[in-house]
Order: sequence, then structure tokens, then C-alpha cells
Amino acid sequence: MTRFSFFATSIALAAGLTAVDSSAQSFSVPAAAFGRLPRITLAKSAIPAAVAGDLIPSLENVTAELHTQRFQHRVGGIEVLGSQALRHTRLSPVQGMLGLGDQAQWTDQLAKFDLDLTPRVSESDALGVALQETPTQQPSVEPRLLIIPNARAHAARLVYRFEIAGQGEIAGRIVDVDAHTGRLVASVSRHWEIAPIDVYTTNTRCQTLSPVTDDLGGSAPISVEYKKCLKVIKAGVAQPSADEMAIQAFTNSQLVLNYYWSGHRRDSFDNQGSALVSVVHVGDKWTNAFWDSENDIMAYGDGDGVKFRNLTLSLDVAGHEMTHGVVSKTANLEYQGESGALNEGLADFFGETIEGQKDWVMGRDLFTDPSEGKNGLRNLFDPSKTKYRWYDDQGDPIRKSAPAHYSEIFQFGDEPCGPMNDNCGVHMNATLVGHAGYLMVQAIGPEKAGKVMYSALVHYLTETSDFAAFAKAAREACAQLYGSSGAECTALDGVMVKVGL
Ligand SMILES: [Zn+2]
Repeated sequence: MTRFSFFATSIALAAGLTAVDSSAQSFSVPAAAFGRLPRITLAKSAIPAAVAGDLIPSLENVTAELHTQRFQHRVGGIEVLGSQALRHTRLSPVQGMLGLGDQAQWTDQLAKFDLDLTPRVSESDALGVALQETPTQQPSVEPRLLIIPNARAHAARLVYRFEIAGQGEIAGRIVDVDAHTGRLVASVSRHWEIAPIDVYTTNTRCQTLSPVTDDLGGSAPISVEYKKCLKVIKAGVAQPSADEMAIQAFTNSQLVLNYYWSGHRRDSFDNQGSALVSVVHVGDKWTNAFWDSENDIMAYGDGDGVKFRNLTLSLDVAGHEMTHGVVSKTANLEYQGESGALNEGLADFFGETIEGQKDWVMGRDLFTDPSEGKNGLRNLFDPSKTKYRWYDDQGDPIRKSAPAHYSEIFQFGDEPCGPMNDNCGVHMNATLVGHAGYLMVQAIGPEKAGKVMYSALVHYLTETSDFAAFAKAAREACAQLYGSSGAECTALDGVMVKVGL
């Protein structure tokens, strides 16, 4: 409940690993003083007829120029995912003061569809389908009915959404089952990883490791209960037990917080000044890192030590993961299909930006052999450098480049999104957005490009935004920031045409 808060960064070290002693160090933490705005309550009559409907206030986000309040759309009491009316209020020059009501503008992102709202499959039958995906786990919260619109088809689907908690504190899943057909629609992890990885189980004090080793001989964590781990840096003060990796993770957090504060006046990932918690030495020789949206923690593996180095050593990876934290508190883009690729692409863009846009290659510093790392995990200036296993029209295996243009994206048709297909290409298609970000920086410079991308995320995108909605959001953000007839927005149009949006 702090109105004026300081950034706090704490890093817990996973138990079971030897911590190197060093003398206690303290770090200065930047003060972030930015009061939150009062919640606006609007009379129904204040909502324009064009966007009126069954709307309830949800998230609010604010930047130096604009205050956005989201109103969630419901039909028959059922939430329509990503369907929102957004009310934008320009802020007066006195920072933090709301402008007058008549300056408010509305953006209608309401979905239009015809849908039978009566489920034809019972909740328990749907649960049976969901549990086939996660046999050992039960839903952690009450299942709910949800309408998932498909903007392109002007259609929508009624689903049961099951949120399944992980064992311990991480690795939950979201499973959607069609309430009319009983068909599995999606089963996606609540982890946002730098690359997809499979995980399985065993036991120690604060983490449970998979008994199955991965391709690189490491073990992934199945659960991490970070509060049982040893706290080695507490609110910016390092304890003697803080090792090099803990301090590296601290430095990463500080750089990420600094970027969001100095660039966008955003106070921590949630804009509420919350502590940014990292856990290091997660897994055993594990080559991955993730942002856990259930507990809002950042976790780093050590890498296998042969092909990959410690995950704390790549600032773009840290920036990428913590940006997932920012996304979860703003547009909250669904982690599947185009919205998921948008989530990943924005994480890549801000990851590279936080790293200083030195190479536009995600995770280059992770590789022990620099020549192998030159294209990293994804290449934002030349996406074609990354190839994925794919199939040609005859169904024969081929290697296909990551997309730099909308016409090149991987298409998944009617397949359920899940671990077998990268949640319908969230990483595979991410380069379309990352590359657009790279071109934007070339066209209008890093600062303005960052502002447009951030404003699009915070003020215009919603859970189900697709690539077309991204282009529209970027244009709207640009017009709001620099005027629609300005050189910036003309250049931005050129960028969107270049990537086919
Ligand atoms: Zn990611």
C-alpha cells in the first residue's frame, strides 16, 4: 500500500548449492516517487453508446502522458476475453493530475459475435478432459466459463477455463475445454520461458528436480518454493553468502527497473513498486530462465556449463523475462497463438533495448562458443538466421525460417495449442514483432520506438490482440504521442508495411 515507494530487489539463492563467501556489500537503490491515481468511477451514462454494453472496470495503467482505464466486456455475465473498452485521459502538465473528463477518448476493442451461451458439456465432463492433460494435479481455483472471440472470423467459442496450480509454487497450467464440443482447445504453461522445455520430478529443501535429464544433461525444476530458499540479497543489501550469480541477478534486476522507471516512469513490473524477486541456481545444470506469473518471481538456471553459460550472464534474457512481468500487469496477452507471439516479441524487443540494443540477438552471451552464439536463440535484425523443424505442403519435414514478414508466419490451423507446438508458435512467430521493433528503432530512434511499443502495450493491446491489432495499437500509440501526421507515424506506417501488417 505504499504510495511513494522505493524499488526493492531481493534475490533468494536456491538451497543445496555452495554459496561463495564475500564481504557484505550494499547497493544504492533508485527512489521511485510516483503516486498512484485515484480510481475513476463512471456513471453508466458517461460511457458513450458506441462502446456501451455490459462493462465492468478492470485494470488501470498510467504513463506520463496518458491514463488508461480498461472496462471488461461481459455477455450474459460471462467474460469475453480481450474484449474491452478503453478510456484514455490525457494528463495535465502537473504530473499525476487527471485531465478534465471531456478530454477522455475511448477505444472500442469490443468483440462482435453470435454465440449460444448455454454449455452442452457439463463442467465435470470438461474437467475430465482437462485432467487428461495434467493427471496428477487438480484445478486451483473454481473453473469458469469464458468467451474467447476470434476477431477474424467474427466468431467466438464458449470454453471452461481450468487453472491448474503447479506442485510447490510454480509450473501451473491453463487448460481450456470447449463447452459445446468437449474438445481440448488449449493447454498452456503459466511459465514464460526463453525457450520451450519439458520438465519432470524429485526432492530437496526448496526445489524439486526432474528425475529426467534434458538434452544437455541438466535437470529442470518441477517446483521451487522460493520462500524456503536462502535470502542472500535483501532489499538491495547483499549478505556474505551472496555469490557472483546472485549479484549478477541483482544487477540485472536493477538495470531492468531503471529502464522501466527512467524510460516510462513505471515503478517496478507491476507499477506498484513491488519487490522484484529473483531465484538463482534453479534446476541442476539447467539451461533456461523464466518469469513465474503466479508468484511474480524471476528464476535463472546455471546452464549446462558446456554449451551454455549461467543464465544470469545475458542481460537481454533477464530483460525479456521481467518484461513478461510487465505484460502480465498490462495487456496480459494470452500465451498462445498470435497474442502469445506478441507477448514473446515484446519481451524480446524490451530485452534487447534494456541490453542497449548492442546486437539484436537474443541470448548471444549465453553461448560458451561465441561463433555458435552469433545468432543466439532468435535474431531480430535477420530472423531468417533461426530455423525450425516444419513440414512442406506434402507433409515432408523441412527447415523453415523464423518470420520477418506476416506472409512467413507459422500457421497452426485448428490444432490445440500446447507444449507440442510451442503453444501455436509463441516463440516461433515472435520475430515478426521483434523485427518490427528493430525496424522502428532504425526509423525513429530507440527512445521514440520504445515509447510507441510501451504505450501500445499499456494503453491499447488486450489479452487476445493479434498481429493486426498490434499494428493498429502501435499506430494509435504513435498518433497519441507524436501526432498522426508527424514524421514518426509516417515512418511507423512504412515499418508496418515492411513486415506485412
Ligand atoms: Zn519469453
